[in-house]
Amino acid sequence: MTDDRRTQLSDNLARVEDRISTACAKAGRPRDEVTLIVVTKTYPASDVRLLAELGVRQVAENRDQEAAGKAAECADLPLTWHFVGQLQTNKVRSVARYAGIVQSVDRLRLVTALSREAVRAERELGCLIQVALDAESDRTGRDTADRGGVAPEGVAELGDAIAAAEGLRLDGVMTVAPLAGPYAGRQLAAFERLMEISSDLRATHPAANMVSAGMSADLEDAVAAGATHVRVGTAVLGVRPRLG
Ligand SMILES: *Cc1c(COP(=O)(O)O)cnc(C)c1O
Repeated sequence: MTDDRRTQLSDNLARVEDRISTACAKAGRPRDEVTLIVVTKTYPASDVRLLAELGVRQVAENRDQEAAGKAAECADLPLTWHFVGQLQTNKVRSVARYAGIVQSVDRLRLVTALSREAVRAERELGCLIQVALDAESDRTGRDTADRGGVAPEGVAELGDAIAAAEGLRLDGVMTVAPLAGPYAGRQLAAFERLMEISSDLRATHPAANMVSAGMSADLEDAVAAGATHVRVGTAVLGVRPRLG
């Protein structure tokens, strides 16, 4: 059983690795500019353990209820945990205990809460600003109720707040390809827009150079646009048994 699963994960990882290197080659980018983060949500800690044995070092989860226990079970593994889901302030204390990077920072209240809990946990938390590309100035038709993200015009203020907050490190930006608005169905254009937002942010915060974009279906577009991190779930672990 475990051997079968290991083989399956190993094969899937090899295929994703192939896709990333091909995309890098096409874009004229060195392969080591792009880091694979495996999104393990809905899959058990035993899978995370197999992935770590297969060389994965970056994993992501989107719900604290699920992630906290899994991270505790895998505390002996050399993993960095990314939190990529919508984060309620009442979950921040828990997330601050295991997350290395929170990719879904999208409001000032969350910055305050993350800073307080990072200090309490005596940890430094990396933060990415989640940008909602369906929220460009014109807010009509916005449908990010459960996807999160700050509108592009709010990025600078949030970046300054994170950079000034004790216990937090401003690492860059993240997006999920929008389902609505002018970028719906235009992943490459969306990720290119995220790159512009990233360079604006780097003008004042040069170290904030992480750009997290691209999932199983659109990682090639993300690599073409210039993403430094891709977040891949399904293509490594399989189709999720339930919505996650
Ligand atoms: C689930 C998830 C992913 C991975 O999606 P796949 O399509 O399974 O690769 C990436 N980013 C976020 C924010 C997610 O919630």
